[in-house]
Amino acid sequence: MSRIAILIVAAGKGERTGRNGPKQYEPLAGRPMLRRTAAAFAGWPVRVVIGPGQDALYRAAMGADALPPITGGARRQDSVRLGLEALADDAPDFVLIHDAARPLVSRGVIDRTIAALEAGAAGAVPMLAVADTLRRKDGDVWVTVPRDGLLRAQTPQGFRFADILKAHRDHAHADATDDVAIAELAGLAVDAVLGEEENLKVTTEKDFVLAERLLGGETRSAMGYDAHRFTDGDHVWLCGVKVPHDHGLEGHSDADAGLHALTDAVLGCISAGDIGQHFPPTDERWRGAPSWKFLDHANRLVKDKGGRILHCDVTLICERPKIGPHREAMRARIAEILSLDIDRVSVKATTTEGMGYTGRREGLAAQAVATVRLPGSD
Ligand code: MG
Repeated sequence: MSRIAILIVAAGKGERTGRNGPKQYEPLAGRPMLRRTAAAFAGWPVRVVIGPGQDALYRAAMGADALPPITGGARRQDSVRLGLEALADDAPDFVLIHDAARPLVSRGVIDRTIAALEAGAAGAVPMLAVADTLRRKDGDVWVTVPRDGLLRAQTPQGFRFADILKAHRDHAHADATDDVAIAELAGLAVDAVLGEEENLKVTTEKDFVLAERLLGGETRSAMGYDAHRFTDGDHVWLCGVKVPHDHGLEGHSDADAGLHALTDAVLGCISAGDIGQHFPPTDERWRGAPSWKFLDHANRLVKDKGGRILHCDVTLICERPKIGPHREAMRARIAEILSLDIDRVSVKATTTEGMGYTGRREGLAAQAVATVRLPGSD
């Protein structure tokens, strides 16, 4: 039986907008994307090429049982070459080189790639037809590009180990976006096998959402409501922003009704009780506490369940202070606390037309709806 090694390239720094770290270590439906990708190759020895300084991220994502990582280089192809060099001492017959950002690769794609190698191909690459009509701008005019014969390349890309190692060494200075391009430079004939649409490259926030949909899981929404009474003071905290006002708000913490309502909404999505259970007003630790801590805690509980917040919508209900001038700062602050893109955060305001306690300016109220994506039971 032929010896096969798997080399996963996870060296990207690729930090997506609004997120905290390289995307390959981000949770995808409850598990780090890299761990899902590696699990797709269960049964084969999997080595992962990581970026410099990503060792701790790798350990946290992969657990203690994973084989040690290989440190990559500046470009993808540098990382692949360094990965291949690390395998050379105990060289396999074949190597499958795979992008960490394709966690949904199926056993079918992997098996087809290996089967082509075992049938004698120097290399094998999963390919897909181009369904959309392609156009290229030629000066001022658009020209339709015939798509006959055009295919899209995916990974894993499989090769005879000795051939692809030599190709990478010989063409280390070329610029290539995948390993088939390096193989072509070395004159290796690469066979196409059938790829799959589901084997998508997860790059953007939208790709994460699509991949999680393909993996299953569920979307939940819940609401929160809160009110605080006006008292003496010269400012109020609302949605994490200090707003000058001729009154303050009474409360054990900073009395930020906006963040309290939102925290309850987030807790509601995971059926985790309410803010008072997590932060009792009898607890001296929370006297005067900034309410972003409560929201951050609720967000962490969601993450602990493998979920993530998709969207949140806060409505502030008061006659005064005027919310409009502070709305964008409030959205930005909530986005910052939750590490969300700002277009996933909505802040609205309304009055009650002079009616009720908000109308009499005795206090203000806030309500919020949060939407959370939770992983399936896989
Ligand atoms: Mg409150």
